[in-house]
Amino acid sequence: MDRVGGMVRAIVVREVPSDSRPSRVATLEDVSESFLGDGGTVVDVAFSGINYKDALALTGRPGVVRQTPLVAGIDLVGTVVTSDDGRFAPGDWIVLNGAGQSENRHGGLATRAHIDAALAIPLPRAITPARAAALGTAGYTAALAVSRLVHEGVSPDDGPVLVTGATGGVGSIATMLLARAGFEVAALTGRADQFRDYLTRLGATSLVDRSELSSYGKPLQSARWAGVVDAVGGAVLANALAQTRPGGVVAACGLAGSADLPTTVMPFILRGVTLAGIDSVWAQPGARTRAWDLLSRDLDLDVLDSLTETVPLEGAIAAAERLLDGQSHGRILVAIN
Ligand code: NDP
Repeated sequence: MDRVGGMVRAIVVREVPSDSRPSRVATLEDVSESFLGDGGTVVDVAFSGINYKDALALTGRPGVVRQTPLVAGIDLVGTVVTSDDGRFAPGDWIVLNGAGQSENRHGGLATRAHIDAALAIPLPRAITPARAAALGTAGYTAALAVSRLVHEGVSPDDGPVLVTGATGGVGSIATMLLARAGFEVAALTGRADQFRDYLTRLGATSLVDRSELSSYGKPLQSARWAGVVDAVGGAVLANALAQTRPGGVVAACGLAGSADLPTTVMPFILRGVTLAGIDSVWAQPGARTRAWDLLSRDLDLDVLDSLTETVPLEGAIAAAERLLDGQSHGRILVAIN
């Protein structure tokens, strides 16, 4: 589609009347392009993906979509049709992760998008459009977290690192990046029986059963980890902090388990542990480019292919339900055009 002003196929989240409280439903619709509103850059979307946040939005759960009606999809990879941003010309491949998409801006689960390109980056040269979307926000967040650990001074000589939610999108890519950088990676998972081979293939050297960290123990525990990439939050994060070595760094990325953090100040004041927050949504272009450079340089793209499931736009909502039911692992790529 290169004409501006036609129809767009999109997954739209709408508020629907219900007996108790308003509820949200996502459906695949044909909308007029004017529905997408203004946006200095028009993109023909080729690929999007299903991240945890997409799964919440596509199944009508709260926490992501802040206004309705809204096109879902926190990621897009596509070609520029027109742009008011001097960095992009028609035909250029462009990547946009987060930046309010599917929160208060229309997102990437559509054949076309009207975006503010300020936080978009050119598709990295070494990555195909499909692989960039397969990596998506999860991969780029994992790269932000790994970069943060390294920037804070954590090195493979300091000891093993822990990755939580390891079979998920953020966890899988973080495991791969850390292993490639020479770290000994312990993968924490609730599905060790099913995914031992998978995690080993990504580069994990040991597996930790999620149950070992799922009830909060002592404020200071045996110091095991030089660094942590946490996608889970809650008691798992609190225990990971309590098990971090003096001077270690914990990158908090997610809340797949819980948004709570039942901890004390002990790891911070007695071991000098750093709790580093990772925000992919509003990261600035420089940080985005560095994260994508890391992915281009250090990721085994064949392994990425092996952990990617591809679905069409029509299959995105069902894939989101599977993700929240714990029936998927790795990454879900949505092929659109
Ligand atoms: P996925 O659903 O792909 O993976 C989450 C993983 O967490 C699961 O595979 C599972 O791993 C584990 N998990 C699921 N439920 C629970 C539970 N109840 N308790 C403990 N562990 C659980 O999600 P993503 O990897 O895409 O995202 C992970 C988190 O990171 C989400 O909360 C997401 O919102 C957040 N996020 C934050 C970003 C940021 O900017 N900070 C950007 C991207 C994601 P296993 O079975 O191996 O234990």
